[in-house]
Amino acid sequence: MIPPAFDYARPTDLDEAVRTLADAGEDAKVLAGGQSLLPLLRLRLAFPELVVDVGRIPGLRGVREEGDTLVIGALTTHHDVIHDPLVRRHAGLLAQATETVADPAVRHRGTLGGSLAHADPAGDLPAVALALDAELVAVGPGGRRTIPARDFFADYLQSTLAPNELLVEVRLPKREGWGFRYEKFHRVAQSWAMVGVAALVRRENGHIAEARIGLTNMGATPLRASAAEEALVGAGGADAVARAAQSAAEGTRPSRDASASPEYRAHLARVLTKRAVLAATGTG
Ligand SMILES: Cc1cc2nc3c(=O)[nH]c(=O)nc-3n(C[C@H](O)[C@H](O)[C@H](O)COP(=O)(O)OP(=O)(O)OC[C@H]3O[C@@H](n4cnc5c(N)ncnc54)[C@H](O)[C@@H]3O)c2cc1C
Repeated sequence: MIPPAFDYARPTDLDEAVRTLADAGEDAKVLAGGQSLLPLLRLRLAFPELVVDVGRIPGLRGVREEGDTLVIGALTTHHDVIHDPLVRRHAGLLAQATETVADPAVRHRGTLGGSLAHADPAGDLPAVALALDAELVAVGPGGRRTIPARDFFADYLQSTLAPNELLVEVRLPKREGWGFRYEKFHRVAQSWAMVGVAALVRRENGHIAEARIGLTNMGATPLRASAAEEALVGAGGADAVARAAQSAAEGTRPSRDASASPEYRAHLARVLTKRAVLAATGTG
């Protein structure tokens, strides 16, 4: 499939990128790894007049520590996230979920920032960003602003980024001592999640003291399973976890498609939440 014609710009630094996007107004699209944008162009589902390739801007790739926060450049590829020792030590849930994204070719080009900005509820990383309480830093003509992940995903394939804003980094609080697990159900290896569950759990004296559960593909946006999170507090054994996981689909609006009905997705959310939490507590 041949994409529609567009102009192409490749800014060499952040200031030039912000100016280019500001001048273009709503007619420009940022290009990072191209693993979601290029299919949209080829299928003629997007018609930007200008594509702004940010792939060579220095400083937007890599992982560093700032005190209790892990800072990941938006252009860090999935491959680099998976293999980064800081991510593995302080945000193991992100590394584990990223390992389930697509195949090695996609993971070598696709970026963390692109996956979040694309805001696909079937993508694995938005739900992980919610569970980890990530903050997303954007730069635009008005300067720099920080957006909590819970305020970032607006609707299906829509984030709260302005068209002329660039996502530059993802900030994650370090989660020492928390158990984690990403459970993904798909029919074919390396494919998209029919449903996914990202679980983070902190235990005290053998009982769950805090739980954070992110849901993939259970609505138009990634969601937190708040009712299950509340029900899990105090749970001390497998039966209590199983009971709490029964509320994992509360407040969700899963879609119907060729793969699954909403009812089946709700069932998967409950089963995967139980599995993920038991694994995160080391009892699964
Ligand atoms: C065959 C295949 C299978 C896949 N399977 C999975 C899967 O199982 N799970 C999964 O989660 N994902 C999957 N993906 C998607 C993949 O993870 C992409 O890498 C990701 O969705 C987009 O990242 P990207 O860097 O390629 O972004 P791009 O395609 O370059 O951009 C995607 C969107 O985000 C915007 N954007 C990108 N970067 C920025 C930025 N820094 N600031 C502002 N806007 C930005 C673009 O304008 C565009 O709208 C798959 C993709 C393919 C091709």
